[in-house]
Amino acid sequence: MIDIIIRNGLVVDPLNNINAVKDIAVEDGKIQEVKEGISLSCASEIDASGKIIIPGIIDMHTHMRTVLGHPHAQRMIALAGVCTTLDMAGPTEDILSSIPTSGSGVNIAILEAAREGFTLKSSRPSVTEQRSFIEKSLTSGAIGIKLLGGHFPMDLDISESFIEESARLNSWVAWHVGSTSHGSNIEGFREAVSCAGTDKFLHIAHVNSYCRGQISNELDEVTEAMALLIQHPNIFSESYLSPLNGTRVIIKDNVPLSKVTSTCLKKLGYSNDYLGMKNAILESAAGILVDDGKIGKLLSGREGVAYWESNNTMCTGSFAVNPAVSRFIAATAKRPDGSFVVDSFSTDGGCYPRNVIVENGLLLVKFGAMSLKEYAVKASLNGARALGLSTKGHLGEGADADITILDLQKERAFATIVGGRVIMLEGNLFGKGTTIICDERGEATLRKRGIKYQLKNPLNPSQIQKRFIP
Ligand SMILES: [Zn+2]
Repeated sequence: MIDIIIRNGLVVDPLNNINAVKDIAVEDGKIQEVKEGISLSCASEIDASGKIIIPGIIDMHTHMRTVLGHPHAQRMIALAGVCTTLDMAGPTEDILSSIPTSGSGVNIAILEAAREGFTLKSSRPSVTEQRSFIEKSLTSGAIGIKLLGGHFPMDLDISESFIEESARLNSWVAWHVGSTSHGSNIEGFREAVSCAGTDKFLHIAHVNSYCRGQISNELDEVTEAMALLIQHPNIFSESYLSPLNGTRVIIKDNVPLSKVTSTCLKKLGYSNDYLGMKNAILESAAGILVDDGKIGKLLSGREGVAYWESNNTMCTGSFAVNPAVSRFIAATAKRPDGSFVVDSFSTDGGCYPRNVIVENGLLLVKFGAMSLKEYAVKASLNGARALGLSTKGHLGEGADADITILDLQKERAFATIVGGRVIMLEGNLFGKGTTIICDERGEATLRKRGIKYQLKNPLNPSQIQKRFIP
């Protein structure tokens, strides 16, 4: 018997060229049939009249760790319509060991952060240490590594060597750009692009964040970033849609500990000290991340200040510093062949409350900046193709029944379905456990630990370069 039939939704499946009102039958976690008026009997039905059905959303940049103030990242992405995500720093062990308590039914691929004192002995690891770090990350269940140039910059030759060694080991490598020579801005972006050349695979994280007008102006920076990505088709990239960033808002000796926080205060016209930070929270220019027991959310105003002060400023927070123009252009720009310049939507969310691929992405559709088909390409198909998940990103017969049902009027996810299980419906969560997307080198460890996993195809840079044209 069929497990679920989703009825009368507008099915938008770019890969299979479907854009019509249909029913979807799901059996054993797979798509069994997509057609009009399915008459089979089934265990349960979802009425999707007036809704849009797309292949399950894949957020290509989140943080699922439990150590950042709260353990609710999985719940937050399930609520936001996300079925699968690429976690961009791990720690792998933190994510794997938190599955029994934090699991909400989503799929997670993990990148382990290259960080001195945590995963590396020094900020100048030898080639041997680099290789063993990459291999260890892969065998423990991650699909690759992340360079944290924006927060913990390494020398340029070391970052370059990590990209080369990752290519040799066919490992995913992502870079939040920045080195000891250049910052997390358009200069660091130029540097990262030239490190990758035109032949090595590199995932450049959150392209929009290097186009905040720190060096020249927002429009020039995003225009240059788009041109460089077109010239370097070997680079995979994502950008996010929220105005909010994420940073630590700790004040020590009357100055912010984080350089990012100082830059934000300056940009928004606040003094670079305790009082400046306090006023930014008070006037809602900044929010403080708090755990409400179910999700993480941002507090500002008097309540935010009280929470921040009662924690001796040891908090994570957000400033609204991502300019609309760079977010818009990075979201919509196309290559000469009609494929997207920036491959995927992302949020840099998860535990940060800015999981807005649906909320803000559907505004782009309403604005007329992209069609629903193009939205589905950026929200799902391109991520599945890059990750080597041939049974995700589309709704063809036999595909994984990973489905997001959207309410376009409300700009909200109506349902999140993963492997045929409804993990979220109308804001209620039902999911348990987590499936880890792994490289074949991580399979043995995950099997031994009894962790549910799904094997991805090996990284295929030439396939990533053959971009889907909507
Ligand atoms: Zn991030």
